[in-house]
This record gives sequence, structure tokens and C-alpha cells, in this order.
Amino acid sequence: MPQPSARDPRRRLPAIHRLLAEPPLPELAAAIGRSVVTRAAREELDARRGAREGVPVPLPDLAAAVARRAQALDRPSLVRVINATGVVLHTNLGRAPLSRAAIAAVAQAAAGYTNLELDLATGERGSRHSHAAPLLRRLCGAEAAMVVNNNAAAVLLVLAALAAGREVVISRGELVEIGGSFRVPDVMAQSGAHLREVGTTNRTHAGDYRAAIGGETGALLRVHPSNYRVQGFTAAVGTEELAAIAHGAGLPLLYDLGSGTLEEIAGEPTVASAVAAGADIVTFSGDKLLGGPQAGVICGRADLVARCRHHPLARALRPDKMTLAGLEATLRAYGEPGRARTEIPALVMLGRTGDELAAAAEALAAGIRARCGDRLAVELADDVSRAGGGSLPVVDLPTRVVRLRVAGEAQSAQGLAAALRTGEPPVLARVQDAALVLDPRTLLDGEDGEVVAAVAAALETLDRGPA
Ligand SMILES: *Cc1c(COP(=O)(O)O)cnc(C)c1O
Repeated sequence: MPQPSARDPRRRLPAIHRLLAEPPLPELAAAIGRSVVTRAAREELDARRGAREGVPVPLPDLAAAVARRAQALDRPSLVRVINATGVVLHTNLGRAPLSRAAIAAVAQAAAGYTNLELDLATGERGSRHSHAAPLLRRLCGAEAAMVVNNNAAAVLLVLAALAAGREVVISRGELVEIGGSFRVPDVMAQSGAHLREVGTTNRTHAGDYRAAIGGETGALLRVHPSNYRVQGFTAAVGTEELAAIAHGAGLPLLYDLGSGTLEEIAGEPTVASAVAAGADIVTFSGDKLLGGPQAGVICGRADLVARCRHHPLARALRPDKMTLAGLEATLRAYGEPGRARTEIPALVMLGRTGDELAAAAEALAAGIRARCGDRLAVELADDVSRAGGGSLPVVDLPTRVVRLRVAGEAQSAQGLAAALRTGEPPVLARVQDAALVLDPRTLLDGEDGEVVAAVAAALETLDRGPA
């Protein structure tokens, strides 16, 4: 058999047991487990065996690479990230951070047993829908309410329970797609209801609805165009008029509000105003402008909500105890005037004033200058934040941002963004005009110090070059 030549990669790699004995791997194995470190060592050796040429790798360097790989393997998939994008309800980042009260309620529900489906007064079986419902009824001004896993589920259940096999009349201007492939026509098809489009993209009149109503009609549907606006030469029928048309024909008006708000925010229709205007069923999300956990709420007429509750899909779409606990605690903040705006993080972030944001940006810039001023140009600039989550699409939220430029390196803002995103903890920022943009609006208490440390660590990563 031919001997391995001097250039054969096998000659420059140690045996695995020698590698595993090299510091810091024995200590690491004790901390995070031997099997994950062994797997990382195998993967690292395999990866280097693939390289055809090269000089022998010093054992300590190889061990350091294995340690990094083992730590990456050991990291959970779902981790906390720092949101410096300024997008408050960022769907990719999990939308609303919960209030302290909601966090505590979720933790308590998670840790032990609850009266999820038990009536404590009688000892009889109870309903999970009894928990958030009384608060929802009061806050929405509705006869009845129930909670499902998200608003897409709420719309699906409402259509399936109230209009399967029948026509649902909707304006062409409201056949919307909400990010993440929620399309009203597709959801309607899955529910078994038949779409009856009326009007045009920009104009729909009362007569269009009236002409479409017939023996096959099961309901009228209004969808709030959450993530876009039709502007210019437009016409839409108001909710009160639409409700009158529906009721005149003995039909319910269903209203998918998307980002339902319980308090007036930037002129968005509140849930209570939609109910008061005559909508028989209103659906909305728990984790958009409400600022709670992922959930969907169905509220409105008692007989219609009861039909939703008794539909077989309700069991498939029911929320768990943690969702209900977090939602109820979030809703409690809306019970007292002014409390929601000071306690619910999404509302606090949306309400940050220009002065607060300017001071936060100034402090962040000072921290970064002190740590990395020799490597970065650090500037302050006016910019806009977004509500996100398909909410308030045309509302500009003026903000003050920190802009970073790495001196003299091509693609440096992209490289810095990638290094921040893959750091520990990951920091998400925007890249704009070849600068990395950090918006303090979406930073939680204490995170600015972490961002400063993350920027310093990201610069070190860039210095090390590609791993
Ligand atoms: C966001 C949205 C949905 C989907 O809500 P999820 O809670 O994300 O499932 C449905 N309809 C409208 C109008 C929306 O804005």
C-alpha cells in the first residue's frame, strides 16, 4: 500500500482521542456533554480532511475550532435576539414582547396545574373559553368572545362555522394577502365558503353588495386592509352602512380587523368601534397592536360565537393554557385607563417620544464610540421606525438612529450586519446607504449595553475573517 505523502491531509490531522484531550475540550465536555463535543470533533476533522492541501494545523487551533463548533451545536434553535430594526411588531422576530404581568402569568401557568377546564366553584368541568372571555366581552363591547391560536385560525373558524357551503360577499379591494401567505381567498376556500367578489380594487359601492346578495349568500365579509392602503380615487362602504345592508337581508356582517386595537392608536378602528358599528363578528390578532401572545380573538353576537365554539375545528384551533394566561394578563392592563400604554411593551415602544429616542440614540452612540471609535464612523440621524406586523402601514414613526460605517472596507455594512446577526446574542439591524442602522425604539431595558458589546464583538469577528 502506498504511504500517505507529506501533502496527504491525513498526516496533518491528529487522532480523535488526542484532539479530545486538548484543552479546552475536556472542560467543555464536562460542561455541555461529551457526545456533543465528540460530534463536533468528528465534524471538524471531516471538514479538514476534505481540504486537499495545506500545512499541519496546530493542535490548539484545531481544539479551539472544535470548541466553537460544539458550542454552536449546543445552542438551542429558538433564541432571544435583540431587535434594533425599529420594526415594533416584527413578524420574523416573534411580534410583540410581553408585559411583565403577562410573562409572570405565562410562567405560572407553565410551571404547574391550572383550572384550565375546571369550574372551581362547582368542581364541574369548565371551559377554557371562560378565562379571557369576560374581559374580552367588556373591552370589545361584545356579547360573547372566544380565543383561538391566531387570527388566521379565527377567520378560518368563523367562515367554516357560519358560511361553509354558502357565498361570502367581499369587496375586491379587500382580497388581501397578509405576509406569511395568509390570503383571504385561500383561507375562504379551506373553510368551505365560496368567495363572491364585488366592486373593483379601488371602488366598491353599496349597490355592488346589494346586487350580489341572493339565496346562496351566507354572510358579508369586511377585511381591514392592514398592510396597505388604496389611495387616490377610492370608494368603500362604511361599516355601519354595510351592517345595515347585511341585516336588511338577514345576514351577519363579519369583520376581520387584523390588528385589532382596544385603545385608539393612530386612527385605527378599535374593536369596540367595529362592534358598535354593527359588525356581528369581529376577528383580530393577540400579538399585533394588542401587544400580547400569539392568539386570535373572535367576538360578537352570542349565537354566532356559540356556533364557532361548537364547530369541530374549534378543538383543533384551541389555545393552550400559556396563551390564555398571557392574553388575560395583557387584557387586564386595558381595564384601567392609561395602564396599557405604560405596561405593554409594544405600546410603550410605539409611544416613545422624539426626546426619549434622541437621548437613547445619543447614549448608544456614545457607548459605541467609547468602545470602537477607532474602527467605526458613528453618526446620529433622523429616520423612521415602523409598527410592522401588517399594522399601521402608512404611519411614519419619526425616530433617531445610530449609523455605523466601518472605515474603508467594501461591503462592510453588510459584513457587520451579518456578524451582529450571528453573534451572541444575535442583534438585528438595518443596512441602508452602506451604513448599519441601529434604531433604539425597539431596544428593551438594558439592551443598549448589550448592543455596544455586540458591535465590539462583531468587529473582532470581521478581523478574524471568514471562519
Ligand atoms: C395579520 C392579519 C391576519 C392574520 O393574523 P395572524 O394573527 O397573523 O394569524 C388576518 N387578517 C388580517 C386583516 C391581518 O392583518
